Formats: sequence, structure tokens, C-alpha cells
Amino acid sequence: MLRDYLFHDATRSFCSKCQQLCDAKIVIKNGSAYLLKNCLVHGEELELFEEDASYLFEKHRYDKPGNKIKTETAIKDGCPSDCGLCPDHEQHTCIGLIEVTRRCDLGCPVCYASSGDGEHLPLDQIERMMDFYKAREGGKAEILQISGGEPTTHPQIEAILKLAKRKRFKYVMLNTNGLRLAEDKQFAAFLKALTPGFEVYLQFDGLTEKVYQKLRGRKLLDIKRAAIANLQAAEVPITLVATITRDVNDGQVGEIVEFGMQSDYIRGVNFQPVAFFGRGTRENLKNRVTLSGIRRDIEVQTGGIFKREDIVPLPCNVDRVAVTYAIKNGDGYVPITSKIKVGNYVELIDNTMDFRAEDVVKNAIAKSLTKGAVCDCLKLKNDITSLLPAGYLKWTSRERADFIDKNTFRITISSFIDMYNFDAKSIKKECVHVITPDLRRIPFSAYNMLHRG
Ligand code: SF4
Ligand code: SF4
Repeated sequence: MLRDYLFHDATRSFCSKCQQLCDAKIVIKNGSAYLLKNCLVHGEELELFEEDASYLFEKHRYDKPGNKIKTETAIKDGCPSDCGLCPDHEQHTCIGLIEVTRRCDLGCPVCYASSGDGEHLPLDQIERMMDFYKAREGGKAEILQISGGEPTTHPQIEAILKLAKRKRFKYVMLNTNGLRLAEDKQFAAFLKALTPGFEVYLQFDGLTEKVYQKLRGRKLLDIKRAAIANLQAAEVPITLVATITRDVNDGQVGEIVEFGMQSDYIRGVNFQPVAFFGRGTRENLKNRVTLSGIRRDIEVQTGGIFKREDIVPLPCNVDRVAVTYAIKNGDGYVPITSKIKVGNYVELIDNTMDFRAEDVVKNAIAKSLTKGAVCDCLKLKNDITSLLPAGYLKWTSRERADFIDKNTFRITISSFIDMYNFDAKSIKKECVHVITPDLRRIPFSAYNMLHRG
């Protein structure tokens, strides 16, 4: 008699009943992967882990060592109580997120932060948090995301954004629901002055009102369209951010990609499988969707323009982030990952979410100098440059940014970890970190599960 699953790996997770840590196996059954938890008090429990188990085998080809980190806490009570970052964490901060307010002008039923009423952080405290983030990343922090609550309700939001630019983060993002941007053209025009190196990370869950009614509690489609129109008029780059829930908007991922590709200044889409913390309750667990499930949906719903294998695990966090970049080719787009086998070159890709062709080319040239002409690095450099316009690498940063804004499209899938799908291994590699007012960096999932207070 054989078991009805294949034992794949062992980890630790949380029992959904007593919310205590317990041993868990990752098992494969009917093509999907599950956490098989075993709580000493409440017994066995099965939780969906990845809808397409093949992703578990594929991702290891893209894995690479994390960056060494500076730490803020000691190992004492074990993961995830010791955040952070504690010495056990395996990855540096790719995105540092500062929640500048608890206030929000929406009250979304799926809000991770349970935002609504609340205080704004003072500007001097925000500055201390920015300085701390930079210092912990050796003075060269990559992406700063200004978030909330709804950051545009902060009376000093313009000063906050200007400050972020003055601090010379490589990239600054404004994470917003778009309500203010739909009405305030002057604010959209102000954002233009922050480019290049700035974009709006716009909540955009689909193309029907039913979706907004369900996930955000009210009709919002016209507001999203007006926000996009104002940003386009001001020439401000946008990433659409869609929270995906099974049986609510999982049937719209293809339409969202299509809408983004057809719209100027929309640089890409970030899909986030819904996570169950904040106002997202465990009653909705049956609506769980996973990174590999969305990857499969994108292939089916874009008619194969993006094949699932084109959406590759991101080397800095293969468990939880997958990405593809496409470049304009006539009227359509071609995924760069279909032309270049990124899995063969992971050592040339920095541990970053801010993947840039020029950085890979630079690394390829440096590597080829040390390894000699026989290395594949020069081939990679040539492959990449053949996809770019002649002279691209000699352009100014403004010219390169304009080209990227108008001619490339990026799809990312970022999957966070809640109490129910918690996997002790992958949380240690999480690279989106909340910068807290008491000057710690806490992985986004651990923050929302345990540390948000
Ligand atoms: S999530 Fe990371 S920082 Fe937090 S306790 Fe675990 S290893 Fe440490
Ligand atoms: S999800 Fe965003 S827009 Fe919705 S209540 Fe929370 S902070 Fe506000």
C-alpha cells in the first residue's frame, strides 16, 4: 500500500487552530504541492502550497546565495519571532517599505494593514527611517516604497517624496489606491518631477466593478481609469498591482496584462496572490491562489504570449517571486526570457528586484574578463544587447528610462506568506522588508503575521 502523495521536503509551519509552530511536510499530490502539517494537539492538516508542483523542481535552477546582511536583533525565540533582521535571515533588503500613515480613504475587506483611521508619521521620523534603511544597506539601498495606509492622505506626502529623491535611493515607488490621483492632476504633474527613478505602484485588481466591490468594498473602476489617465498625461510610469483571489478575479489576469501592454506609461503588472492577514479572514482560505497558479493562468489567458516557463523564479527569492520582461516588437511584445535562458546565468544577476539589462551586461563583461573569452558571459552580453536599440548602453539615464517606460513590460508575481501557508524556509529569503519606526527591518510577511502590533 502506497501513500497518496510524494514526500518532497520538510519544513515548519503554523497550526491554523492553535496558531503554534508545528512540523510540516511539503507533499505533492495530483500535480499540486501542499503543506501537510502535524500539530501535536490538533493533528494533521493539509494546506495548498503551490498549485503547479513543477514550479518546486524548476526554481532550484535559479537559486543563488543571498547577500550578507547587517542585523538588528539576536536569535532568541526562533523564526519568525526574532525579526529582525536577525542573523538567521538569508537575504538583504531588495525593497524597503515605509508606512508613512495608518490612515486610508478606503476600507478594503482584504487590507493586510487593516487601515482606516490612524496617525500620520512625522517627517523627521520618516527621515530617520530612510537614513537607517540606507545605512543598513551599506549606503546603497535599492528600492524605497512609500506605503501606508494610503500615503497620499499624508499632508506632507510631497515633502516625503522629495526627501526620498534627495536621499538618492536607486528607485522610489509610491504605493497608492489612486483615489487622490484620479482627482488631483496637479499632484500627478508633481510626480513627473521625481522621474526617472520613480514610479506609481497603483492598486488595480481587474476590469469589472464586481471585482472592486468584492475586494475593495466599493465601485472603483472609473476612478482607476481616471488615475491612469492623469498619470499618462503627466508622463509618470505606472506599475499595476493586482491582488488575485480564486473565483473573484483569477479569470482576469490575461485582460490585466493586455490592458497594461496597450497603455502608455504602464511599465508592468505585479500580481499578488491574496494573503490572509489583516482583514483577510481564514474563512476565505478556499480562495487561495498561488504563484504557480497565476503563472499558469497568465499562459492560458494571454494565448501563450507569455509561456509559464518565460516567467522565471527571481534569483534573489526563488520561492516567492517570479518575473518576466518583455520588449516591444512591432505591435506586440516578446518576453526576453524566451530568448535568453536566464537560468544559465544566475551568477550574473544581482540579488535585486530592480533587474536592469545594463547591470547584467556590466556583470557579464566583468566576468568575461576574469574567466577569459571562453566563458558564456560574452554570449549573454551579445544576446542582451541584440535585443536593445543600437547605442543603448551609451545613452543617458534619462534616455534609457524613457525607452524602458515606452518599450518594455514587466510581469512579476510576488507571493507573501501568511499563518496558513507559512514555510520556515522561504520566509528567511524574503527580501521585501518593512522599515519600522523603532528602526528594524522586518520581512513583509512576518510583519503582517506577527509584528504589526
Ligand atoms: S523571518 Fe528572518 S528576520 Fe524574522 S526571525 Fe525569521 S530569519 Fe529572523
Ligand atoms: S488595501 Fe490599501 S487602499 Fe485598501 S484599505 Fe488597505 S491601505 Fe487602504
